[in-house]
Parts: sequence; structure tokens; C-alpha cells
Amino acid sequence: MLGYDADIEQHSEELSIKYLLNGEYVSRIIEGCSSVSIIILFLSFIIAFSGSLKSTVLFGLFGCLLIYVVNILRIIAISILYDKFPEYQEILHSLVFPAIIYGLTFVLWITWVKYFSISKEDRLEMILSQLEKYYGTAARNYLDYQELIWQNETFTYAPYADPLFPHQNNGHMVFRNSFFNQRLFIAGTETASSFPGYMEGAIRSAKEIASKIQQI
Ligand SMILES: Cc1cc2nc3c(=O)[nH]c(=O)nc-3n(C[C@H](O)[C@H](O)[C@H](O)COP(=O)(O)OP(=O)(O)OC[C@H]3O[C@@H](n4cnc5c(N)ncnc54)[C@H](O)[C@@H]3O)c2cc1C
Repeated sequence: MLGYDADIEQHSEELSIKYLLNGEYVSRIIEGCSSVSIIILFLSFIIAFSGSLKSTVLFGLFGCLLIYVVNILRIIAISILYDKFPEYQEILHSLVFPAIIYGLTFVLWITWVKYFSISKEDRLEMILSQLEKYYGTAARNYLDYQELIWQNETFTYAPYADPLFPHQNNGHMVFRNSFFNQRLFIAGTETASSFPGYMEGAIRSAKEIASKIQQI
């Protein structure tokens, strides 16, 4: 493989496998090199922060396979580099390759938590149970539930020339007025009289507008 004649051989004096390149003993593979401990670590995290059964099983299998394959590539690469640069053995073994394999596990964890650990159904249930705590069972009588990544919000998102910090442009007094002879009201956090720019402001504004409409 890669122009090398690779072979393995049981070590005669200890519980390890000798890795031979072109007939020369370049490295030994012990139990700790098998990636099983990292796979267990990876799986423990995925299970601890599990999502739906399907996504947990699928991502778990995918991650185990990826770690296993990358570990085999690590052993191949480390053996070739040992052969070519024996003076860097220590740094390669103790620093570079652990960084790669642990780094991969870290990236898998982040990917899991950020993108897959909670399904849309799980998120909806979390939101509903939180809303239910404050507004009672009526919170479950909703008409529709949509999810959107803020940057994909075509109505309101536009790329800014300069960074726009939060709560800088919190609406204008004029939007608190009604328009067209009390036929148009604008409710939303940007028109709230208190806590503009926050969820609290959006809810207060909705309540204010609702009571104005009731008074008509
Ligand atoms: C990244 C981010 C993090 C935030 N974090 C927090 C937080 O931790 N705590 C907190 O209190 N607040 C937070 N906020 C602020 C909070 O989310 C907003 O203040 C709140 O959602 C505003 O509610 P709203 O109903 O006024 O407006 P929105 O939720 O923006 O609703 C307006 C709706 O109108 C729709 N719309 C717009 N134009 C049109 C059109 N022409 N036709 C049809 N529909 C249209 C939009 O699609 C949107 O669904 C955060 C905001 C962002 C962006």
C-alpha cells in the first residue's frame, strides 16, 4: 500500500502487535491504539445528550465508523512518518496524532449538539412545555409551528455594511400609533413601550395592541 510492503506480527514478549514496513519493525500497536476507548467516550457523550432514538443510533454509528477509519489512517500515517522522520517520533505520537483523533471527536460532539441532538419534534415539545408553564394548557392550542434560521429570514434579514449590534434600532414612537383611522396597528417588539428588542417587548406590545383593538 502507498508503495510500502506492510505487515503485522504478534510481539513475542508483550501483548502487542508489531507493525512492519518493508520488513522493518517501525511501530507497535497496543490495546490503547485501537480507538475503542475514544469510541466509548464518543458514544457516552452522544447517549448523555441523546436526541430521538433514530438520530442517536444513526449518528452514533456514523461517528464510530468515522473514528475507526480515521484511527486506521492515523496508524498508517504514523508508521510511515516514524520511518521517514524518526527524530519526530515523540511529537508525532504524543501531540500531533492525539490532537487529530481527539479533535475529530470534539468536532463530532459539537456537530451532534448543534445540528442533530434535538429533532424538530423535540424542540417543539420543549417550547410547548415551557410556554405551558407560563400560559397553561392553552399554549398547546396553536395553529401552526414553523422554524427558521434567522439569517434565512427573507422578509427582515439583509446583509449589513457594518456590524449591527443588538438593541440599537428599537423602533420609533410613530409605530405605536394606529393608522388608517384605527384600522392598522403594528404589534411587535420594535413597537413595544418597554423591553423593545426582546421577547418580553414583543409579548407586551401584543397585549397592548390586543387591548386597544378590544376598546374600539
Ligand atoms: C439571534 C437572536 C437572538 C435573540 N435572543 C433573544 C433572547 O435571548 N431573549 C429575548 O428576549 N430576545 C431575543 N431576541 C429578540 C427576540 O427574538 C425578538 O425581539 C422577538 O422575536 C420579536 O418578536 P416579534 O413578534 O416582534 O417579531 P418577529 O418574531 O420577528 O416576527 C415578525 C414576523 O413577521 C414576518 N414578516 C415580516 N415582514 C413580513 C411581510 N412583509 N409579510 C409577511 N410576514 C412578514 C416575519 O417573517 C416574522 O415571522 C433575539 C433575536 C435574535 C435575532
